[in-house]
Amino acid sequence: MKFRNFKMIDYVVYGRGCFDQLDEIIAPHRKNDAPMIFLLDHFFQKNDAFKSRIPLRGNDMLIDADVAHEPKTSYVDELAQQIKSKYGSVSGVIGIGGGSAMDLAKAVSIMMTNPGKAQDYQGWDLVKQPSVYKAGIPTLSGTGAEVSRTTVLTGPTRKLGMNSDFTPFNQIVLDPELTKNAPVNQRFYTGMDCFIHCIESLKGTYINEFSRSYGEKAQELCEEVFLHKNEWNDESDEQLMMASYAGGMSIAYSQVGVAHAVSYGLGYLLGTKHGIGNCIVFNHLQEFYPEGVAAFHKMVEKNSIDIPAGITKGLTDEQFDTMINVSLGMAPLWENALGKDWQTIMTREKLRALYEKL
Ligand code: NAD
Ligand code: ZN
Repeated sequence: MKFRNFKMIDYVVYGRGCFDQLDEIIAPHRKNDAPMIFLLDHFFQKNDAFKSRIPLRGNDMLIDADVAHEPKTSYVDELAQQIKSKYGSVSGVIGIGGGSAMDLAKAVSIMMTNPGKAQDYQGWDLVKQPSVYKAGIPTLSGTGAEVSRTTVLTGPTRKLGMNSDFTPFNQIVLDPELTKNAPVNQRFYTGMDCFIHCIESLKGTYINEFSRSYGEKAQELCEEVFLHKNEWNDESDEQLMMASYAGGMSIAYSQVGVAHAVSYGLGYLLGTKHGIGNCIVFNHLQEFYPEGVAAFHKMVEKNSIDIPAGITKGLTDEQFDTMINVSLGMAPLWENALGKDWQTIMTREKLRALYEKL
C-alpha cells in the first residue's frame, strides 16, 4: 500500500471581517512593480462598497470573472493571455468568489508559469512548474475548492481538473461575512455539495480515520444549519464555512462517490452546475446512501428548496451514452462508492435507468 503524501494550503486566516487583513497578508508577496491580479466573481461587479475594500495598489488589476458557466480551459487561457500581454509577469493571483472564481484563480496562476494551454494540464500531476503566488477567498461555502488540490475545468475533450501539488492555494481567507447575502437556493445547492462530499466520503470504501474525523464534523455542521436551526444567522455562515473546509479535507484523503460520478455526466452534456447537479442526482440515491438521502429530503423540505426534475427527458440514446461514458470513466469514484467489483454493480443499463429518473 502506498500512502498519499498530499500538499496542503500554506496559510489560513479565519474570522468575521478578516478580509480587511488582506492588504497586510499579501504585502510580503508583492514583487517590485509586478501587480497583484484580483479575479472577482462577477456577482460583485456592481457592489462598490465591497470593491472599495479590495486592496488595490500600484498597477494591480481587478478583473470581473465571468462565472455564468463553470470554468472552461479556453477562458483560463484567455485570462492568462490578457494578463501576460499587459504585464509580462505578476506577483500573484487572488480569486474572490464561489468555487468557480476560486478554480479560475488557481488555473490562471498555474498558466502564468507553465507553457502551452490549460487543457494540457487536465489530469493528475501534469503541472511541472510552481504557479505564481495565489490566494482564495470564498464568498459561497460548500465546494471545498478553497482547500482542494484540484481546479475543475471543462476542456475541449473532457471535464477534468488540474490535479497537482502546485494547485493548492498559498493562502486562503475565510471570512464568513462574505457569504452573508447569498440567495437561499444557491446557498443550499453549494452547501449540499459539502453535505454530499461528507456522505460519499463517510460511506465509501476508501474511508479512514483522517477523512472520517473531518467528514463527521462537516456533516454535523451542515445538518445544524440546514436542519436543526430555525433561522439563518451569522453563526450559520460561520458553521457552513467551516463545514466546507472540513468536507474538503475529508475528501482530500478519501474520494467522492455516486452523486459526483453521475453529476459529472450531466455537467458534461447539459452544462448542469456542480451544486445543483449533485442535488438532482442525490435526490434519487436512496439505494446507495439511505440515511444521507433521507436527511437530504428533510433539508430540502425544511428550506423549501426546489430541486429540478425531468432534466433528461427527451434525450437521445446517443446523449444518454455520452453521459454514461463520462460517468463510468470516473473509476476511482465508483470504486470508492461500490468497491472493487463496482462494474458488476453499476452496469450501463442500471446507470441509464438512473439517468432517466433525473
Ligand atoms: P459558483 O462559483 O459557480 O457560483 C454560483 C453563482 O453564485 C454565480 O452566479 C456566482 O456569481 C454567484 N455568487 C458567488 N458568491 C455569491 C454571493 N456571496 N452571493 C450571491 N451570489 C454569489 O458556485 P459554487 O457552488 O461555489 O462553485 C461551483 C464550482 O466549483 C464549479 O465550477 C465546480 O466545478 C467547482 N468545484 C471545484 C472543486 C474543487 O475542488 N476545485 C470542488 C467542487 C466544486
Ligand atoms: Zn462536489
